[in-house]
Amino acid sequence: MPSQHVLVLNCGSSSFKFAIIAASTGHEILSGLAERLGDAAPSLKYKFSGTKTVVELPPHAEHKAAILKLVDLITELKLGDDLVAVGHRVVHGGEAFTQSILVDGDVLAAIQQTSALAPLHNPANLLGIDVATSAFKHLPQIAVFDTAFHQTMPEHAYLYALPYEMYQKHGIRRYGFHGTSHCYVSEQTHQILGLDKNNSKIVTAHLGNGCSVTAIKNGRSVDTSMGLTPLEGLVMGTRSGDIDPGLFAYLSDQLGYSSKDIDTLLNKQSGLLGISALSNDCRTIEEAAANGHKQAQLALEMFCFRLAKYIASFAVSLGGLDALVFTGGIGENSDLIRQRVIEQLAFFGMTCDHDKNQAARFGHQGIISTNDSNVIALVVPTNEEWVIAKDAARITKETK
Ligand code: ADP
Repeated sequence: MPSQHVLVLNCGSSSFKFAIIAASTGHEILSGLAERLGDAAPSLKYKFSGTKTVVELPPHAEHKAAILKLVDLITELKLGDDLVAVGHRVVHGGEAFTQSILVDGDVLAAIQQTSALAPLHNPANLLGIDVATSAFKHLPQIAVFDTAFHQTMPEHAYLYALPYEMYQKHGIRRYGFHGTSHCYVSEQTHQILGLDKNNSKIVTAHLGNGCSVTAIKNGRSVDTSMGLTPLEGLVMGTRSGDIDPGLFAYLSDQLGYSSKDIDTLLNKQSGLLGISALSNDCRTIEEAAANGHKQAQLALEMFCFRLAKYIASFAVSLGGLDALVFTGGIGENSDLIRQRVIEQLAFFGMTCDHDKNQAARFGHQGIISTNDSNVIALVVPTNEEWVIAKDAARITKETK
């Protein structure tokens, strides 16, 4: 059988990440990033066969020019023949999408309709689909949604206690994000631990720049910490996570903040960065905290406390807890945060194995709890690109 390679595109407003992935193995053949698009000095960086290369793009080059450059690159590296599809990460699928889908006119219109819920992300994702459709005319385009995995949440978990018509008329509800990551690591966890998919209770903690936890019962998402937007829930790099909604009126009426100011405050200036007044990068915070920086210590404390509280509350959503999974840049690498969170969950009878916890980093997966721990804690590196590639290859095959 010929290799099934998928070009995975993750488009932001001024950048996009790309990768060519072998769908059956997850092997990354090419990976890279086009950034500062529309700026004076845009560039396209890529890694192929272990070598990193930077290509300067013409000043003010935008998505279209960068994707056309990528097409040239794929031809130059002779990677075009094995490509079977382009897989696009789409942030918000609203209630329209419960799984990945082949893009056609109706799908584009439905993604467009959910753009109001993700004004920073969906228009960029749509732009990527548009440009890739003309650049790769012979390839099917598949959309993979961050929200789709969470569409199994029950109504009592996804509704806000607002007038019901806010949901009916405006779709205001909790959607959840990082779905591909939560889905992937929970499937891996079932395999690693030999858990029965008809009888399993798992909490997955995706901790990167954005952070979310999900309660997964029998392989299906039943609760998650992010909401209408990716701002709700945990303390993140620059995002506040949960706050009192009364803060909006206070900031507006008493301090004269506009809605844009509030949005910037909560999304860009809060979280680890806001509390520490130092950095949004967890490594910097951990280093500063170890050197006695009081606000960095507080930022870590708040990060772990909120996370532990969410995990404990998700035991209610699940009616118990078999396994706790850490993933994402922080989850996969910070033994300090994992240890502190597990310590705060000691009342579950969960205990951390110090040596195993220290050994699980830099892409190594494994159990980090002690043999007699009531709940198994483990680290599973995420691989969102592979999920997108697998879905794209599968749907392409099914729709042929
Ligand atoms: P994104 O959400 O952008 O994909 P990542 O999943 O790469 O982000 O996670 C980025 C975060 O992971 C940063 O806060 C970074 O400091 C943190 N991180 C990476 N390596 C370590 C480490 N060794 N110890 C603690 N934090 C780490």
